[in-house]
Amino acid sequence: TTTNYPSLPKAKGHEKAIAVMTSGGDAPGMNSNVRSIVRSAIFKGCQAYVVMEGYEGLVRGGPEYIKQVTWEDVRGWSTEGGTNIGTARCMAFKKREGRLLGAQHLIEAGVDALIVCGGDGSLTGADLFRSEWPSLIKELLETKRISEQQYTRYQHLNICGTVGSIDNDMSTTDATIGAYSALDRICKAIDYVEATAYSHSRAFVVEVMGRNCGWLALLAGIATSADYIFIPEKPASSEEWQDHMCNIVAKHRSKGKRTTIVIVAEGAISADLTPITPKDVHKVLVDKLGLDTRITILGHVQRGGTAVAYDRVLATLQGVEAVNAVLDSTPETPSPLIAINENKIVRKPLMDSVALTKSVADAIQAKDFDKAMSLRDTEFVEHLNNFMAINSADHNEPKLAADKRLKIAIINVGAPAGGVNSAVYSMATYCMSQGHKPYGIYNGFTGLSRHESVRSLNWKDLLGWQSRGGSELGTNRHTPEEADIGMVAYYFQKYQFDGLIIVGGFEAFVSLSQLERARDSYSAFRIPMVLIPATLSNNVPGTEYSLGSDTALNALMEYCDIVKQSASSSRGRAFIVETQGGNSGYLATLAALACGAAASYVPEEGISLEQLSQDIETLSGAFENAKGRDRFGKIILKSKNASKALTTDKLAEVITEEASGRFDAKSALPGHIQQGGLPSPIDRTRGTRFAIKAVNFIENNQDLIAEARSDDGDFDITDKQVSATASVLGVKGTNVVFTSIRHLYDVETDIAKRMPKIIHWQETRTIADHLVGRKRV
Ligand code: ATP
Repeated sequence: TTTNYPSLPKAKGHEKAIAVMTSGGDAPGMNSNVRSIVRSAIFKGCQAYVVMEGYEGLVRGGPEYIKQVTWEDVRGWSTEGGTNIGTARCMAFKKREGRLLGAQHLIEAGVDALIVCGGDGSLTGADLFRSEWPSLIKELLETKRISEQQYTRYQHLNICGTVGSIDNDMSTTDATIGAYSALDRICKAIDYVEATAYSHSRAFVVEVMGRNCGWLALLAGIATSADYIFIPEKPASSEEWQDHMCNIVAKHRSKGKRTTIVIVAEGAISADLTPITPKDVHKVLVDKLGLDTRITILGHVQRGGTAVAYDRVLATLQGVEAVNAVLDSTPETPSPLIAINENKIVRKPLMDSVALTKSVADAIQAKDFDKAMSLRDTEFVEHLNNFMAINSADHNEPKLAADKRLKIAIINVGAPAGGVNSAVYSMATYCMSQGHKPYGIYNGFTGLSRHESVRSLNWKDLLGWQSRGGSELGTNRHTPEEADIGMVAYYFQKYQFDGLIIVGGFEAFVSLSQLERARDSYSAFRIPMVLIPATLSNNVPGTEYSLGSDTALNALMEYCDIVKQSASSSRGRAFIVETQGGNSGYLATLAALACGAAASYVPEEGISLEQLSQDIETLSGAFENAKGRDRFGKIILKSKNASKALTTDKLAEVITEEASGRFDAKSALPGHIQQGGLPSPIDRTRGTRFAIKAVNFIENNQDLIAEARSDDGDFDITDKQVSATASVLGVKGTNVVFTSIRHLYDVETDIAKRMPKIIHWQETRTIADHLVGRKRV
């Protein structure tokens, strides 16, 4: 019997009905993914369905489990943790009979395409389902469970995967939806534990999730500068790990560290595949080192709560791309998986990704750990090497020969941003592991020119920097020319620096350009110099990502969530939240996307009167329609510099007056809250990654710059040498790249506006508008 689906118009002709389900373990961000898929589908003229309770819902079928949903049904979901459409582990779907029922129920509901948000198990199931589809529908026809017409209409099932899993265990994507939220919970917990560990001078063994994948343990290890980690991909024999761990912990203690943090992934094993449990580690720390040791098992807290900004944005953009992929697909295209590589959302063949992921688990089972490692993506391997270099290295026996050791300086310029201290900590500890001598220049270029504030960085002084907010080195906005470039050169000469790392935003960018151009006059600047972008405005040319922007976005998002809750409590209220960011609308745009704001106003566009009246009309309509609904409030994001005439207060007044009683608007100013408290795990781990890449840049370009220095003191530098020796480190699309400062400054920068000429988040604005039904004039 076919089920009768009431209520909403059904797909006909060329239109598609697209269903989404969440499956496997729940992950923060799944709700954003579902919301975005539902709304994108409707926006594109399709019907949207949700399958409740994962594959269980397919097996059971009927309108209770395969539901058509409306735009309004997913309102506000971005801010909610878990998954509102339920998830389950379903044994029945692992059998053909279960999948046969699933096929029948999808056809009865009139669904053409299924988007599955889940882990590798769920996506394996999805892939199998699609490959079996022709035989399933044939059997359904032969047993008269579907009609001839249905058979013809539903010849092909479109399947698309979006990876939702806190483990980050799927190959071919850098991040899975939920992984960074889980990492956030873990790092917060370890930060708390660290304080009590410090007070009692204790050791803590912390167990985190991850059965086949050590990503959470590894990234948490970097973000909290843990002493030791256990991950399934890199096991050692029981004797080896005991000695290695004790050696490192004892060394850290002897250098004056009061705390010991050891992170154990759930799936940690030794080389003979016996599990390593927190109890095993505890015993070793107590028996061999006599440390007062406690165990903390984080458990389901790691899945908890609302998603971090990264996951909301990732899940939302991937949802949009999943719907596009479904609409693009033909019977011949292989099922896609929506992935992210660095900063770019990309499609990968689902089957290959699943197979690759499975081969990691197989390699571990076969004790082929080198293979397991080689199958993980290169970023994972890079993180692991970084962790070993900065936390486990023997600084008494550095890696490089004496003649390869350099003197490298690091300086902060501009406003503080999350991850800046992490960059300094990682640069310095990495330098120590290699044998370089790291120097900190305190209080920016004026600190140097006026007070010779150069200090050689030593290990003990840096303890705790990895997780601290602000700038431990001290920072200000002065460029070398403002500070006295001659004095800056004098001190560079005095300390014989072989390389410079500048960490900062637009002033830092200008500073690097000044130093590079001053190479003609001052030989001290004829060294490799590199900028690590760090600013919440994210306006540094040459990169799509700056340290600190994730921390700021989370701080702003949390603020908006609270304000939105307040707005929802009173009848008909919109809050206008004013964001920082200079002339860059990045923060306002991304926060609008993460919080589902009704509109955002940014300096790149200004505020036109036509658009404003259109927005007021749209909002009035929404408030009208929502009469009687509980929890209904609106947020509007406005960059401070979006308009000279319309301050945030004025804008609120204008909107309230124009809305003439239909709703009112109030302003809300988060101000310096946007610099964030403790830096987010993303900014901490990227700080580490960027810093080590920056040191490598300095190491690798020593020869090149030496070629340009002639014996008679002349400096004759080619374009190639310029670009290779004074550069901005940046994330561009799917890559981390170094771009010549001279090229960026001369070609890609609007100096007056302090902005890159090309805005990479433009498309994100369009998506944010579509997903809230904002009309553009
Ligand atoms: P997590 O990463 O959170 O563990 P997951 O998707 O890997 O998520 P699983 O429990 O492995 O979680 O899979 C979820 C569901 O997907 C299973 O309960 C089952 O219904 C379906 N599934 C998993 N593997 C298969 C398979 N090989 N064939 C058919 N269905 C499967």
